[in-house]
Amino acid sequence: MNADDSTTKLDFIRAIVAEDLKTNKWDGRVVTRFPPEPNGYLHIGHAKSICLNFGIAAENRGGLCNLRFDDTNPIKEEDEYVEAIKEDVRWLGFDWGDRLYFGSDYFEQMYEYAVQLIKAGKAYVCDLGPEQIREYRGTLTEPGKNCPYRDRTIDENLDLFERMRKGEFEAGSRVLRAKIDMASANLNMRDPVMYRILHVEHHRTGDKWCIYPTYDWAHGLEDSIERITHSICTLEFENHRPLYDWFLDELGVYHPQQIEFARLNLSYTVMSKRKLQQLVQEGLVSGWDDPRMPTICGLRRRGYTSESIRNFCKRIGVNKFNSTVDIALLEHCLREDLNKTSPRVMAVLRPLKVVIDNYPKEKVEELEAVNNPEDAGAGTRKVPFSRELYIEQEDFMEEPVKKFYRLAPGREVRLRYAYFVTCTDVIKDESGQIVELHCTYDPTTRGGDAPDGRKVKSTLHWVSASDALEAEARLYDHLFSKEDPDDVAEGEDFKSNLNPNSLEILSSCRVEPSLSKAKPGSRYQFERMGYFCVDPDSNEDKLVFNRTVTLRDPWAKIQKAQKQKR
Ligand code: ATP
Ligand code: MG
Repeated sequence: MNADDSTTKLDFIRAIVAEDLKTNKWDGRVVTRFPPEPNGYLHIGHAKSICLNFGIAAENRGGLCNLRFDDTNPIKEEDEYVEAIKEDVRWLGFDWGDRLYFGSDYFEQMYEYAVQLIKAGKAYVCDLGPEQIREYRGTLTEPGKNCPYRDRTIDENLDLFERMRKGEFEAGSRVLRAKIDMASANLNMRDPVMYRILHVEHHRTGDKWCIYPTYDWAHGLEDSIERITHSICTLEFENHRPLYDWFLDELGVYHPQQIEFARLNLSYTVMSKRKLQQLVQEGLVSGWDDPRMPTICGLRRRGYTSESIRNFCKRIGVNKFNSTVDIALLEHCLREDLNKTSPRVMAVLRPLKVVIDNYPKEKVEELEAVNNPEDAGAGTRKVPFSRELYIEQEDFMEEPVKKFYRLAPGREVRLRYAYFVTCTDVIKDESGQIVELHCTYDPTTRGGDAPDGRKVKSTLHWVSASDALEAEARLYDHLFSKEDPDDVAEGEDFKSNLNPNSLEILSSCRVEPSLSKAKPGSRYQFERMGYFCVDPDSNEDKLVFNRTVTLRDPWAKIQKAQKQKR
């Protein structure tokens, strides 16, 4: 994958859609769907699928994309997830209009289809327990064995299936299975289970049902009922396609085309809902929307824009081979967008007090600062300058090392939008810790240039001590310290690769007063320090910022190195 490649060439799925339109295979229709199971929050992998399905619909005239909740397993599904998923899809910029569907709305229809297969001698009730079913299935190298109940009469099957529905049997005591081929080379075709008994309430159908369809049985029917044209799913389902086709062919119903693509994997990230759930339940993160999580709500809270996520999905493209995308590319797309759109402000994360000895005691000047050099329309704002300021601790060195051009004793630097200052004295506490600097300023350098043309080697950001607001900054690093979090020693799991330094909280930051009314979700570039976003934990007494991403762009470096090699 190369982020430089233009996307003018159609990916293989869009090529299939274009060809089908040309041959009029679906009467000129394009209908896709995004089918999440409401058993967790959406993550960046789902964003790939959302952009693909809604994207294809939007790119083709009259194209439609359904939002369908594949809610066939009542054990893990909840309304909380349904609402969160809707919010996330909308936030990503997609609109399903009136095309919101639930697999559970088709339960009656699915039941009738199952009766149809029983009547055709293609499905039977099996009394084996889950253990035995597994035993009878055989292995990749050995064929399975027919179950002793396989040859029940149609009438007996119809009767038992109806009684399964009525709740006469215990969970796990019987299942309905398709009668296909226990010797098939494809294990999915060895009489797969269509219905299981679960005496569990469903988040939408309540206690109406106690038999629930399996994914394989339900999914194709959902696609068929909604008259989907292209049913796009991830590669794990390639082996299930023969079954998808078998069910629809045996029923003789409308038959969409299933197409598989490679799922998104990201370095330093786990993507399975099960694992993300574990992190939440075990309190290893603060919740599904912890800004370190790869969930859409986590990324949003962190400060990601939906534009940057869509752009990332466009760049990674769609193909048939599993691979892992460098998380630096996602961050690169984010910086690209934030650079264009974020207002610049000055904020000091680790404050060091500076007193300008020759600046009048009560004086405050309002200096003009540029809001966004990338956007002339963004205008300017006033920032107060006074005798006592804060600068960043790391911008001063008492004994400067080679190549350190920032402030040091006797050295002159520029304070952004303000004056040249020279450090004259360093104050320390008993422990030798530097607590304050004294400087002088040159009044003729107002605005940042010296009339005599002398130059300084660096420009520092700063805030006025008495005007600045207190703030907390939460600095994030990758949630996992290994590129592949699943690469673990025997007996350990992905959690042993959690990065112990993924969150650093700085609680005595100082930010310029223009941020006093900053609302949760607002994004800024803190000059020289990174991109930050106001967290919902923010309140009137204390602003809380999440560092969305640093300014350094390792991806840009990787690309430059690649170009030089070529
Ligand atoms: P997970 O394995 O994370 O639990 P899932 O596949 O079980 O995901 P679903 O709710 O069934 O989650 O997914 C809805 C849709 O999103 C499916 O079509 C699925 O193929 C797609 N999808 C899920 N994960 C990814 C991924 N990493 N990359 C691309 N598409 C994905
Ligand atoms: Mg799934």
